[in-house]
Amino acid sequence: MDVSSLLDGLNEMQREAVGAPLSSMLVLAGAGSGKTRVLTHRIAWLMQVEQQSPYSILAVTFTNKAAAEMRERVEKVVGTNMGRMWIGTFHGLAHRLLRTHYQDANLPQSFQIIDSDDQLRLLKRILKSLNLDEKQYPPRQCQGYINGKKDQGLRPKHIDAGNFPIEQNLLNIYKIYQESCDRAGLVDFAEILLRAHELWLNKPHVLAHYQERFKHILVDEFQDTNAIQYAWIRVLAGKSANVMIVGDDDQSIYGWRGAQVENLHRFLTDFPGSNTVRLEQNYRSTANILNASNELIANNPERLGKKLWTEDKAGEPIAIYCAFNEMDEARFIVGKMAEWHAKGGNLADCAILYRSNAQSRVLEEALLHKGLAYRIYGGLRFFERQEIKDAMGYMRLINNKDDDAAFERVVNTPTRGIGNRTLEIIRSTARQQEMTMWQASVRLMEEKVLTGRAANAVNGFMDLVIGMRTDTSDMSLYSMADTVIQRSGLRAMYEAEKGEKAQSRVENLNELVTAARSFEMPEELEDMGELNAFLSHAALEAGEGQADKFTDAVQLMTLHSAKGLEFPVVFMAGVEEGIFPSKMALDEGDRLDEERRLCYVGMTRAMQKLYISYAESRRIYGREDYASPSRFIGEIPSEYVEEIRMKASVSAPAMSSRFNVPRQSIANDSGFKVGQKVKHFKFGQGIVTDFEGTADKARVQVNFTDFGSKWLLVSLAKLEAC
Ligand code: ATP
Ligand code: MG
Repeated sequence: MDVSSLLDGLNEMQREAVGAPLSSMLVLAGAGSGKTRVLTHRIAWLMQVEQQSPYSILAVTFTNKAAAEMRERVEKVVGTNMGRMWIGTFHGLAHRLLRTHYQDANLPQSFQIIDSDDQLRLLKRILKSLNLDEKQYPPRQCQGYINGKKDQGLRPKHIDAGNFPIEQNLLNIYKIYQESCDRAGLVDFAEILLRAHELWLNKPHVLAHYQERFKHILVDEFQDTNAIQYAWIRVLAGKSANVMIVGDDDQSIYGWRGAQVENLHRFLTDFPGSNTVRLEQNYRSTANILNASNELIANNPERLGKKLWTEDKAGEPIAIYCAFNEMDEARFIVGKMAEWHAKGGNLADCAILYRSNAQSRVLEEALLHKGLAYRIYGGLRFFERQEIKDAMGYMRLINNKDDDAAFERVVNTPTRGIGNRTLEIIRSTARQQEMTMWQASVRLMEEKVLTGRAANAVNGFMDLVIGMRTDTSDMSLYSMADTVIQRSGLRAMYEAEKGEKAQSRVENLNELVTAARSFEMPEELEDMGELNAFLSHAALEAGEGQADKFTDAVQLMTLHSAKGLEFPVVFMAGVEEGIFPSKMALDEGDRLDEERRLCYVGMTRAMQKLYISYAESRRIYGREDYASPSRFIGEIPSEYVEEIRMKASVSAPAMSSRFNVPRQSIANDSGFKVGQKVKHFKFGQGIVTDFEGTADKARVQVNFTDFGSKWLLVSLAKLEAC
């Protein structure tokens, strides 16, 4: 490939960066200005024009997806497979280094990586062995402490806990945790980076080898690097490597996780003589979207400051939808997507972005109802999430004590001293006597096989389940859900754990109460009982699984995971005070700027059309709140905006029927004929025998081959003619 074609499709500033003489460089530019494109073209340039070996290049980015895309883009430009070239995430590359030099890194060859859950389990064991109370030392807090120290490059020997007993204990936990990891050959995520950094510091010959090798280092999304990542790059670069970093201070959104936007300034000091290139033309978004985003971010103080422009047409205005409530919002979003799809648009071109994971539930439900495939990017569907399964486990046991899977799931969650040995006795009794685990437990208690602490613990658990069952028998479904989450100790367990993940789990648990509250019994399941019906509903939703990667599917994700991506159509949902900016950011004033940057990231993902929506009242996290639109909406000048108010047809009573097929589309009869063959998703095949009612009350009687005759509400039954 010749030089000119490498520079094709680049503007003048981009060419300057791509074709710059070998030296260090900072590309500082706003969203959608082609930073990632410049970085990939630079890699190709180094190989093809500067004749540098792919072996001498190291490129780092933030997520596996971005790394895979970068590799793909480079391969496309260069036209060959880049095989073992070092393109990856910080963790991926550091891991590769440790595998190659396990001896120098003081690791056994067979060392294993443990994820965050494994780490937590290990910490729990250590706390127990130290006789430390989990309430006083929540495992997640210990985990946060250890990872935080590692991210700063600190080993126990570097830390002075002074005369503070809590700090001393945490330090001791860190020490013992590390010793047991070392003994077992286990490495956690933070450890990967720390060890890779120590490898540089402790083994000069290894460092020298890689310094000799990697003459070119390129880093994308640099604004979100933390201290240890920066240090790793800096040491590796030494005095001679050419380092190209690209980033945008306005998109720094991981401050709360230790990322240091100051690294951008530090770079200029640490790599004197590096050029700064600014890109100002945006190629992603229409002028309306771009200008609105610029105006929004201008409200932040302390910016490095840049102005983006585009040649693109103004495009459609940003649509702001004021929803009546969260269901109306979901219905609106899904309706717009269905319209787009009906006109031939791909579902995969649409993304719904939200601030917190718990918000996905209502959207998922609306998508399922409409039959649109969706994928949750970087996360699980609502009913598949651990904490939801925990809570549902208790509800399932209340519904049916003999549900063994539920029994196994919650018998020792939260921990109540029922160890593996006790469980093994219960299991084998159940097996031998052909009983359920509950029945086996009763038998073991009666026969006094279990004694002492084990007996007390199992007894306590059974009392808890029976007590909840009795006390909730007259309750509404949502009070029951709330009671279960509270009395089981699940809420307290996750609340004690601190940290972002735990907080999101508490939000999800509370959101389960909302789910129960808005659950409406499908008439055809009426004789099932509400709890039972709700449990089946949850199991069905969880069971559908994610759309696989070959299916055209709407993408759902948090605003954080949307970084670096772009979509023709973007919906930002739940843009309300207290949700976005989040309540926590509002309480801690200095986090507001980071929330605004997150809003900027969200808006600038959109290429053609951006929808922003908020609800006047919202049931979320188990509460019902009246919310006002986010201040961020107010910061977008009205010239770029078109406000969509609620339509008259979307009146309160209409909404109470929960994502029903819109009234107008329901004919005043069922749309089926007597004698017609139909199919129901649950009851299978049948023949229509009668009708009654009109509009959304239209009902149809079907005689099912396997289930006999049933009256079904047409609007809910999703009958198909066949
Ligand atoms: P972000 O800050 O969101 O990571 P970015 O600065 O990395 O954005 P890119 O993703 O590289 O931006 O580019 C945004 C879009 O603009 C991409 O679709 C890219 O292909 C396109 N693009 C970049 N430069 C040009 C150009 N000179 N001509 C045409 N399209 C371009
Ligand atoms: Mg990018």
